[in-house]
Amino acid sequence: MSGLSGELLIRWPGGSQAVLTSPSSSILDAALAAGVPIPHSCLRSDCLQCSAFVVASDDSALEPGSRVDLCQTSAARGGVFELSADPYQLRASAKMYPAKVVELASVGGETMLLRLLTPRNQVLGFQGGQYASITLGSGLTRKYSIAGVASATREVSFYIRMVQGGQFSQWLGRQAKNGDLVRMQGPYGDFVFKRQPAAKTLFLATGTGIVPVLAMLEALTTADLTNSGELHVVWGNRVRADLFLQDRLDAICARLGVSQTQVFSRESDGQRMRVTDVVRGMNLAGAAVYAAGNPEMVRDIRGLCVTKGVNPRFVHSDAFTFDRAIGGEVA
Ligand SMILES: Cc1cc2nc3c(=O)[nH]c(=O)nc-3n(C[C@H](O)[C@H](O)[C@H](O)COP(=O)(O)OP(=O)(O)OC[C@H]3O[C@@H](n4cnc5c(N)ncnc54)[C@H](O)[C@@H]3O)c2cc1C
Repeated sequence: MSGLSGELLIRWPGGSQAVLTSPSSSILDAALAAGVPIPHSCLRSDCLQCSAFVVASDDSALEPGSRVDLCQTSAARGGVFELSADPYQLRASAKMYPAKVVELASVGGETMLLRLLTPRNQVLGFQGGQYASITLGSGLTRKYSIAGVASATREVSFYIRMVQGGQFSQWLGRQAKNGDLVRMQGPYGDFVFKRQPAAKTLFLATGTGIVPVLAMLEALTTADLTNSGELHVVWGNRVRADLFLQDRLDAICARLGVSQTQVFSRESDGQRMRVTDVVRGMNLAGAAVYAAGNPEMVRDIRGLCVTKGVNPRFVHSDAFTFDRAIGGEVA
């Protein structure tokens, strides 16, 4: 415990901060009010950005070692909750860049490449797996995983799957043109490779969820992976025509010795499968798991990891939550 019963302590690697308990607010709200910049987004437990481990709690329903979403956890009782990364450091590394659209291209299925140019002397630094927010002139803001930054040309690339009726998708598909100005802010997120000793390391993605996984893998060398066991990517799409970035994925998998499984949920020839179907059949003893993409897939994988006894500290996720009510179809 933090020492005093009834005290709330938020801690992270290298630091901690006490927060006042409050009968009427969530731990996230109480921590934000105390100035702890805990990353958060959806406030409904979809994005998992404010998740923390229970170290100790005065609430017997919160088991030590379990993971909770601070936006949904009452701040009424004391306890110690641990974040996986320093929230102040995460906030400090994010910067705002004015950026210009320099390339728009369809890359297969319903996915588009958007390339943005940052001003002279301003290169976006990021760790593979992180994302940025893009704000249009209208004020509409959406988050996208950073596929790559070419430091020589200052170009940042994103791969965006068009969502029917989606506001950003409509801008991208109908209005956007080279030369348009947007605001880009980032990098954000803690979905980065953790170097945890594991019997196997799984990288799971649906659709454009492959973008942060690919960026993460591209940032690694074989030396980084010495204690990671067998390495495996499972990528789910609706149909083969949805595939993109395949050459880059093949190249990095060959370089790092990562095996790949691809599954399709709506392909008419062959067996229809989802990422979760593949994982359900796997032995996950001692595994480290990275899952990115559709929030339902991420939630199911986290559930499966609990069932299969994976250490919750070895399960990392990047849920592509939508900014409005969840709807539509899942790859
Ligand atoms: C951390 C993070 C990283 C992300 N990275 C990427 C990325 O690299 N590439 C990418 O394409 N997207 C990514 N997303 C999702 C992205 O932020 C938008 O939610 C998505 O592009 C839809 O925006 P929109 O404005 O076009 O649709 P909206 O106007 O937000 O939504 C319109 C309607 O479509 C539904 N909807 C929205 N998205 C989907 C979906 N994917 N499937 C089914 N229905 C949907 C909504 O519920 C809503 O009813 C990421 C999200 C997060 C939180």
